Amino acid sequence: MKLLEDMIREKGVVKPGNVLKVDSFLNHQMDINLFNEMGKEFKRIFADKPINKILTIEASGIGIACIAAQYFNVPVVFAKKAQSINIDGDVYSTSITSFTHKREYQVIVSRKYLSPEDHVLIIDDFLANGCALQGLIDIVNTSGATVEGIGIAVEKGFQDGGTLIRSMKQNLHSLAIVKSMNPETGEIEFAEDK
Ligand code: 5GP
Repeated sequence: MKLLEDMIREKGVVKPGNVLKVDSFLNHQMDINLFNEMGKEFKRIFADKPINKILTIEASGIGIACIAAQYFNVPVVFAKKAQSINIDGDVYSTSITSFTHKREYQVIVSRKYLSPEDHVLIIDDFLANGCALQGLIDIVNTSGATVEGIGIAVEKGFQDGGTLIRSMKQNLHSLAIVKSMNPETGEIEFAEDK
């Protein structure tokens, strides 16, 4: 998606450790015009799927998911980060290793908000090693609901997540795929194929 790629090129900051900072328009301050365009694009990509719910993970996925949800006219459920001691039987839970914070945490979704009748679009801001997505897919599968598709804003194509999730036969679409990025020069290259 050209608008997103242009904004990443113009405003993204490449940090050491394969981290792309996009705080000025995606992860901290949020560019709502961009979010609207991303929402429209997700709707165009997944138009033929019977999606009745969007699932994301706190915190950075929520804004993107909410704007996208207006185009699908469906509710958004976000997986909450939880202390494992608080987890009771009313929730689905899974463990995720954070790429940016390098630690493991539990996420939960109430059983009230996901059930076998649901057809779910998973949305998140970034795809790196795929751990967050694997956790969300695991929660949907445990609930008996169906994953209809996965929409990602920025995939770092040089990490393993994309290959892993596509090998699981998931209908994954990323709006921008970063092929390479250089922390010294700040140069960012995108894959042609989205
Ligand atoms: P994964 O689980 O695929 O390794 O990482 C995905 C999660 O880590 C995303 O939800 C995102 O919040 C965070 N993340 C991974 N890589 C980056 C990055 O380069 N920049 C930012 N801002 N977040 C990232």
